[in-house]
Amino acid sequence: MLKEEKLKEFIEACKHMGLKITPQRVAVYEVLLSREDHPTVEDIYNEIKKKYPFVSLATVYRTVETLEELGFVKKVAYWGGSVRYDANTNDHHHLICTQCGAIRDIEFCIDWNPPAYMEGYRVHNYSLHIYGVCPQCQAREN
Ligand code: ZN
Ligand code: MN
Repeated sequence: MLKEEKLKEFIEACKHMGLKITPQRVAVYEVLLSREDHPTVEDIYNEIKKKYPFVSLATVYRTVETLEELGFVKKVAYWGGSVRYDANTNDHHHLICTQCGAIRDIEFCIDWNPPAYMEGYRVHNYSLHIYGVCPQCQAREN
């Protein structure tokens, strides 16, 4: 789906819930849609501040929470005490650098048979986290 369509969907969902739609709120989702690095709330706030200097961190927090509640974004991982967010809600996996915390999407299918002890569970999605050291951090080691 196009970014514009997703933004429109978010605006519609806010209207539906009786939530106020402000350019700052829309900008939060816009930042999440345009970034592939799985930003923290602080990262989003720092980017929005450039355009809307009077936006508060609390507003950005609340908007990310709303986006999550409405299913537009997902928490992807915790890193150094901060939660990282993802606007890609399709099933996919993540490659995580244990040195700098960079998180990249990776798309592949796993031919997966749930182990017996999972019987009875209704699995609605799954995501694999692969941890390692990214090429940039490896270059810094030398
Ligand atoms: Zn790294
Ligand atoms: Mn992702």
